[in-house]
Amino acid sequence: MTTFDYDLFVIGAGSGGVRAARIAANHGAKVAIAEEYRVGGTCVIRGCVPKKLFVYASRFHGEFEDAAGFGWSFPGGEPSFNWAALLANKDKEIDRLEKAYRANLERSEVEIIASRAVLDDPHTVRLLADNRTVRAKTILIATGAWPFLPKLPGIEHAISSNEAFHLSTLPQSIMIVGGGYIAVEFAGIFNGLGVDTTLVYRGDKILRGFDEDLRDDLTAAMQRRGVRIVTHATPTAIAKRSDGRLDVTMAGSGPQQTGALMFATGRVPHTKSLGLDKAGVATGANGEVIVDGHGRTNVETIYAVGDVTDRVALTPVAIREGHAFADTVFGNKPWSADHALIPTAVFSEPEIGTVGMSEADARKTHGEVDLYKARFRPMKYTLSGRDERMLMKLIVDAKTQKVLGCHVLGPDAGEIVQAVAIAMKMGATKADFDRTMALHPSAAEELVTMREKWTPPKAG
Ligand code: FAD
Repeated sequence: MTTFDYDLFVIGAGSGGVRAARIAANHGAKVAIAEEYRVGGTCVIRGCVPKKLFVYASRFHGEFEDAAGFGWSFPGGEPSFNWAALLANKDKEIDRLEKAYRANLERSEVEIIASRAVLDDPHTVRLLADNRTVRAKTILIATGAWPFLPKLPGIEHAISSNEAFHLSTLPQSIMIVGGGYIAVEFAGIFNGLGVDTTLVYRGDKILRGFDEDLRDDLTAAMQRRGVRIVTHATPTAIAKRSDGRLDVTMAGSGPQQTGALMFATGRVPHTKSLGLDKAGVATGANGEVIVDGHGRTNVETIYAVGDVTDRVALTPVAIREGHAFADTVFGNKPWSADHALIPTAVFSEPEIGTVGMSEADARKTHGEVDLYKARFRPMKYTLSGRDERMLMKLIVDAKTQKVLGCHVLGPDAGEIVQAVAIAMKMGATKADFDRTMALHPSAAEELVTMREKWTPPKAG
């Protein structure tokens, strides 16, 4: 009879891998998890968590500006910001979280192995730290994704989000390349921290795939807050001057000079040199591990969850996929993660919260839709004088009256939309929203008080 060292070997201790390892162990499996960098993975170490801490830091800028209208002043002088203090405090919090993740794994009796792990065959994992091999009945690939940087002359002078969390000094100016949520969030962060910020995007509008109203209103609001947005442009070469500044040659725009250059131009599944070919695991065009709804690859003993599968690259999704895998394979409780109606936020300034379909997608799939739209000044800005509107938009199926999409731009948009997602998951109709009592005074009450269908203004 074949014997194995482990029932389950997990490669990668990020959101998906940690959850899968713990749940499988709680079901009685003997589990080991290999991590080549730090336990917690992208989200905890260099993604969601440090990013949100930076977002909080950057928002004080606007808060100080808004405070004057409420009677506050700073007789001692202007508030000042200390980048080194933020980095140190952020690092302390990340250390605390990493310890908590380790403790949870240990409590579930998962063996943590500090090593890069690669596949040798469908049951064998090679641990590169000491070049030994271990055998497992089942292997889970949860290696996540990695920032994509284009091959340009001088690209070594550019950074990705990984390095943005560790800059030794805050640059005076930064150019961020990309139009996705990470690019947009970092533009808000650096701008809020007082860095002269330019966002460069090769397309015509940031946040492709999001509702057009969100894209338009956020673009305008970011520009009003001081971010320079350059579209239809892309860097083609980078050169470093003796003073450390960068000269960036561009296609679609004139040359630019900047203190730092960050690429947020997508992430690729982390499968390079992972031995997938040796184990016979099929991959897609982007290097992603191809899986079915239960995380099964084409090799019976190997599964994959999270960003490495290049489906929905978000932490809660990776966690659910890991949990479903462990319950299905080790707990005799088969289920799979549901990818419909995933609420998401863009922690830009102002913030976006969104769930369900954009207007364009809803029209494509459902034909006729009813729109409810409100743009208004949040109460806080009446005294502060900030010239910024909040946007609330509901997209409703004209036939069934089911709410298909909810899009919010403004303070606390993410918090608002998380709660709306519950109602939408339950199949709420516009009438359900309407019979819900408003919570006053709040911005979110607009979602249950919008009565008039929005019609596009007549041309001419
Ligand atoms: P990961 O968390 O990336 O974990 C993979 C782990 O595997 C890593 O620790 C890696 O070191 C390790 N590894 C890789 N190869 C090997 C190997 N061969 N051997 C051993 N170890 C290996 N998501 C949200 O939901 N909300 C957000 O606000 C958000 N913000 C983000 C901000 C940024 C800047 C970034 C980069 C991502 C953000 N994400 C956010 C996405 C989120 O971080 C990922 O979707 C999530 O971490 C995916 O989890 P995972 O388990 O698939 O992979």
